[in-house]
Amino acid sequence: MARTAIVTGGSRGIGRAIAVGFAKKGYNVVISYAGNEQAATETEKLCRESGATDVVTYKGDVSDENSCEELVKTVMDKYGQVDALVNNAGITRDGLVARMSADDFDSVISTNLRGAFLMSKLVTKPMMKQRYGRIVNISSVVGVHGNAGQANYSASKAGLIGMTKSIAKELASRNITVNAVAPGMIATDMTAVLTDAQKENINSSIPAKRMGEPEDVANAVLFLADEKSSYITGQVLEVSGGL
Ligand code: NDP
Repeated sequence: MARTAIVTGGSRGIGRAIAVGFAKKGYNVVISYAGNEQAATETEKLCRESGATDVVTYKGDVSDENSCEELVKTVMDKYGQVDALVNNAGITRDGLVARMSADDFDSVISTNLRGAFLMSKLVTKPMMKQRYGRIVNISSVVGVHGNAGQANYSASKAGLIGMTKSIAKELASRNITVNAVAPGMIATDMTAVLTDAQKENINSSIPAKRMGEPEDVANAVLFLADEKSSYITGQVLEVSGGL
């Protein structure tokens, strides 16, 4: 039977590349997204063309418990198993801390950290029953090193690293691995807001002298989500061109 992977925030950017990666391996691919129907439909098409056994797109908010419950129930009713979960959905609400509103702090923590917690909690039961599972959390280099203007975002990404290491310890004996990938600067809608001058400035500070592509991150995620990566857990893999 085909394996099943859930990719949150799979409609665009890094999530789309990860979804297509699972499709190429013949998975049932389930992508969730916040509201961009057109992007989700495009990803569904790409996954089908790439060899997915089946594809489901689900519109929902990862920070909402009922929505996450409905998503996992849909997956279990349809496929009876969930083999991989990639907690990729994420947002930014940047600003210097003195001017950052509590709402902007809370919404970033809710989507990026609470969302990953809710989804991980919900897949744990079926994964424990299966005695197999792969969870990969998309953190960020700023969760390790910090970044001015991103107190909320870097806190959420650092939180993901702590959560990854803790859940990895809880689930290691059940053949469930939990790892994090920490991307540097990746060319997606999230970074498209930067001016050309800002991008040039950033590129010059990256040892690889370029921004990464979504596929660079997807390759690392697919490696950690592979059956053969069964002895790697609780790790953080930076994909940052040496930043
Ligand atoms: P994008 O902004 O391109 O895409 C974000 C995705 O998340 C979309 O699919 C969006 O859905 C979805 N999403 C947003 N909020 C929610 C929500 N509440 N519930 C469900 N889905 C949601 O982001 P990237 O591809 O750039 O980033 C993906 C991940 O990688 C994020 O966690 C980000 O923090 C992380 N990252 C990105 C870096 C970069 O340089 N780009 C660097 C380091 C980490 P919709 O399309 O419907 O809006």
